[in-house]
Amino acid sequence: MKIDYEAVIQGGGMVGLALALTLARAGLPVAVLEAHTPRRWRREDPVDQRVSAISVASERYLGRLGAWADIRRARACPFHGIHAWDGEGGGAIHFDAHRYGEPHLGHIVENRLIQTTLWQHLSRHDNVRLMVPGSVEGWDAEPEGLRVRLNDGGECTTRLLVGADGARSRLRELAGIGHSVRPYGQHGVVGTVWPEHHHGGIARQRFLPTGPLALLPLADGSCSIVWSCPEAQATELLELPEARFREQLTQASEAVLGPINACGPRAAFPLRRSHARRYIDRRLALVGDAAHTIHPLAGQGVNLGFMDAATLAEEMLAAHERGRDPGGQAVLQRFQRRRLGANHLMQTGMDAFHWLFANDLPPLVVLRSLGLSLTDRLAPAKSLFMARAMGLSGELPALARPHPQTG
Ligand SMILES: Cc1cc2nc3c(=O)[nH]c(=O)nc-3n(C[C@H](O)[C@H](O)[C@H](O)COP(=O)(O)OP(=O)(O)OC[C@H]3O[C@@H](n4cnc5c(N)ncnc54)[C@H](O)[C@@H]3O)c2cc1C
Repeated sequence: MKIDYEAVIQGGGMVGLALALTLARAGLPVAVLEAHTPRRWRREDPVDQRVSAISVASERYLGRLGAWADIRRARACPFHGIHAWDGEGGGAIHFDAHRYGEPHLGHIVENRLIQTTLWQHLSRHDNVRLMVPGSVEGWDAEPEGLRVRLNDGGECTTRLLVGADGARSRLRELAGIGHSVRPYGQHGVVGTVWPEHHHGGIARQRFLPTGPLALLPLADGSCSIVWSCPEAQATELLELPEARFREQLTQASEAVLGPINACGPRAAFPLRRSHARRYIDRRLALVGDAAHTIHPLAGQGVNLGFMDAATLAEEMLAAHERGRDPGGQAVLQRFQRRRLGANHLMQTGMDAFHWLFANDLPPLVVLRSLGLSLTDRLAPAKSLFMARAMGLSGELPALARPHPQTG
């Protein structure tokens, strides 16, 4: 059987494109099938509603792919501090990168900018086929690979099919991989807002009994918000006239940056935790939101996805270099072993946090506020939290470890 591509990746979101670029740069032929033509990021456009807190580990990985410098130059806001406080009990915690000798804790970047940059880098490689609109209809297993049927009636062969097609992954469904879904009972209201005062490079989060409210710093001094709240409240917030919305936001943020003077369009996304029962099948792997989704309160979703992509690529390339099958079972099992437990641990930690702060039982309120204030004074505990926030805890794929370009 002649193999056309070492990997066929369904989903040209941030995670699928990062994986494709990693493999393409190492000389492996790859195909990416994306359902929709990505809307290009343009400097003259206002900041997009969907942004992500990109961890230091993800920054290093994107640096290794040669994409980070372009993203950073285009529009990314570094943040050197995180300030989180309890809206009910009064406890607070503050992280400052400078006190630990770090320049920053992460960057806030528009998702579309990351996607556009990766797409541009990929289109420079002649071992990559980008199919839009493209998707997989089905496949047949053969001894050395899969024969994949495509939506345009064509077919191709590959050693590995990768589902990077998001939370509602069709590939996961076609492979018959079950997944658990638990809605948080919240929606995340997002948008850009202009508070009276400059954010000073600090990401802020207030924990309210209805859900956390994050004010994430943007390069022009404005903030991107993620206001997690029950669905009915989210609908109300979307429908409010702008002035009333600004008032409510000023109040909910305790005017930490002064009154909110202006705001852009708002949108809301349902928040749910999901986890695939397994990440692999015969010659098939799931990465990113196709494998797991998590509450955005710690801004970890796409960062976990990038670590999936870097780990899968690392295992595939190691096998390829030794003349072994990069889509074989040994590669897939090592990938699953390295990522499933780590992602599960992060999900569980976030759920505990979410439960603790979404609760207004008086004893709990007192305890958690005490806990926050105590942790704030305990240097070792703080270092642990900081390492988590920067994506530097646990076993990192080689592509996310320090390297000369990004430090
Ligand atoms: C409100 C909110 C705030 C968030 N904030 C953060 C944050 O601060 N930091 C962070 O790390 N994460 C954050 N996340 C999570 C983050 O947005 C996701 O984890 C990330 O977008 C997942 O990327 P992905 O590439 O895996 O999937 P997606 O972005 O969903 O991309 C999947 C791609 O596959 C394509 N596709 C789907 N089906 C098919 C098909 N059948 N055929 C072909 N193509 C298909 C889609 O068009 C899409 O391009 C947040 C999420 C929410 C909801």
